Amino acid sequence: MLIVLDRKHDTPLVEHIRALLQQKYNCESHLIGENGRVIAVPGDTAHVDIEVFENIDGVKSVDRVEQPYKLASRRNKDRTEITLRPGTLLGSRAHLIVMAGPCSIESPGQMDETAAMVKEAGVSVLRGGAFKPRTGPYSFNGMGEDGLKLLRKAGEKYGMATISEAMNEAQIDLVAAYADIVQIGARNMQNYDLLRKAGACRKPVMLKRGLSATLEEFLLAAEYILAGGNHQVILCERGIRTFEEEVRFTLCLGSLPALREMTHLPIVVDPSHCAGRARWVKDTALAGIAAGADGLIIEIHPRPEEALSDGPQSLDREQWTDTMHGIRAVAAAVKRTVL
Ligand code: PEP
Ligand code: MN
Repeated sequence: MLIVLDRKHDTPLVEHIRALLQQKYNCESHLIGENGRVIAVPGDTAHVDIEVFENIDGVKSVDRVEQPYKLASRRNKDRTEITLRPGTLLGSRAHLIVMAGPCSIESPGQMDETAAMVKEAGVSVLRGGAFKPRTGPYSFNGMGEDGLKLLRKAGEKYGMATISEAMNEAQIDLVAAYADIVQIGARNMQNYDLLRKAGACRKPVMLKRGLSATLEEFLLAAEYILAGGNHQVILCERGIRTFEEEVRFTLCLGSLPALREMTHLPIVVDPSHCAGRARWVKDTALAGIAAGADGLIIEIHPRPEEALSDGPQSLDREQWTDTMHGIRAVAAAVKRTVL
């Protein structure tokens, strides 16, 4: 970490800062540069609150240099590859994983029909929400454990890995008992107890970007899971809140190359929740692949008009087939095969 002062040779200020570093954070420091304006703090400074120093009168800037997300950082690792089930590898340069299924699991028939649609398209991960974070308390909030049973049954029947969301700590174990991947939703990205619990889980966890989270906050949230010993973390860019109201959320496409540079973790794009309308999902998905996503997660439904949640953005059979054609074409253009 580097602390740059406004003035040259301000000995009392330098002493004050160095004492604070030593006493509060147990950090050694030394003065560097000819004019005595830069205090260098070598080693790990992830525990240092840089705002404390930024707010000191006479400090011009503070640069952590080292990333505060040590485990998520790309510094020591190029890519993390996660085997979701034998033969289904997420995060490899050569492959693209597509996850699809209903927003909510609604009934045995709906789950089976949707799983068949996913399987027919030749992709390998089935999604389905059993615990639903809904904006209002009166909306359908999922089938709970009964839904997870239907998801597992469909996954086994069609030979696909499964993913479902956990909204609280108790649900992490429950979802992990039934599904291959545990999803943490956008609204829970900064639920730190939930992240710690996900860190203790031994199944892959897909963390969705918070509605107004910066990429640094996103990676720090992932860091909680990694720090708990769970190294199978998947990031999901699902759009952020901006002033724009035509699309449901604004897909931050630039986050793909940026995250690729910042972290080794696999990155999935969710074109459904950002587009908000089924007819916009395909092009959004294709843009995600072109920007370097390792995977996509897409909401589909045999009869979107009957869906109990997110029907307007769910692809029907025809849209799903067409979207998969586009996905295969763009994947080929970026030299990836769809698993
Ligand atoms: C979902 O995947 O159905 C969902 C609720 O997503 P998000 O947390 O991104 O809103
Ligand atoms: Mn949804």
